Amino acid sequence: LRKKKIKPQDLVKQITQGNKTALSRSITLIESQQVKHQESVNAIIEGCLPFANQSLRIGITGVPGVGKSTFIEAFGNYLISLGKKVAVLAVDPSSSVSHGSILGDKTRMEELVKQENAFIRPTPSGDSLGGVAQKTRESIILCEAAGFDTILIETVGVGQSETMVHSMTDFFLLLKLAGAGDELQGIKRGIMEMADAIVINKADGENKKPAEQAKSEFRKALHLYPETESGWKPKVKLASALHQIGIEEIWNMISAYEKATKANDFFQHKRQEQNKFWLLQTINDRLKANFYQQPKIKTELKKQLKAIENNETTPFVAATYLLKIAKDL
Ligand code: GDP
Repeated sequence: LRKKKIKPQDLVKQITQGNKTALSRSITLIESQQVKHQESVNAIIEGCLPFANQSLRIGITGVPGVGKSTFIEAFGNYLISLGKKVAVLAVDPSSSVSHGSILGDKTRMEELVKQENAFIRPTPSGDSLGGVAQKTRESIILCEAAGFDTILIETVGVGQSETMVHSMTDFFLLLKLAGAGDELQGIKRGIMEMADAIVINKADGENKKPAEQAKSEFRKALHLYPETESGWKPKVKLASALHQIGIEEIWNMISAYEKATKANDFFQHKRQEQNKFWLLQTINDRLKANFYQQPKIKTELKKQLKAIENNETTPFVAATYLLKIAKDL
């Protein structure tokens, strides 16, 4: 937009015509977080909303090196061969903390990038995870309005980012490696519970046998979990992203999930629950931000922290005092 200012309604029109440049520009506006862009951003999102929602949102997670980008390259190209339009977004917690991105630095998905029917957006950086999550949610809406019917949201298997991605996707895929010696104990239980499927990647060459072994162990482990609300039993699959093996089977599985959960209304229900969650989450984020940026709170908070150090007050008394000040402001 630096070059030439385009009106939000024109951007919306171009986005809904599938114009990737307009889509990119608009996402850049979303990411800029400048107050002067806020009005345009809101207008663009509002304009796109009626065209959004018509997609399948798939979350993909796994530790660095598990093969996420290789998998997305193979999976994305396969989906495009089926006539789908694929958008890839990333939620990368590392970029907000260390300003060096785990996901973004290398050349990734070289073939997919070239596809007319693909749109790949690296992670927004220099922000809190909450901020990144909000931007990603808004970017999903824009991608959908641009006609992308399959949205892949990638995240690294560390910290809170999986929970974030889980709460904005319809299907959650966990990529794992066999033979790392940590088949079961190495994963946080919470992440296993979020997964609609575990895919053991690099099931090729010498790795094939250990992968089979890991598959049956994961199956057993998943079997112990209580049945989910969706009626879907999490699946375990093998893949070789590098040799494009197992890709079709994984897609068929996700399609089956979509079909089953649309038939029993869980699909819609889950999205509604996600929207409620994000409403509350947004309120919490804004309340918190408003609170901490008040000059009076800034000075009083410093004093209270000092008072805590000197054993002159308790955390609860101090918090009550600060919240009361904020209320009276
Ligand atoms: P990411 O960090 O999770 O995105 O992982 P990458 O996709 O960058 O893959 C890390 C390394 O593993 C690369 O050298 C890939 O070529 C390799 N790799 C990815 N998938 C496979 C696979 O299915 N089999 C084998 N043998 N190597 C793979």
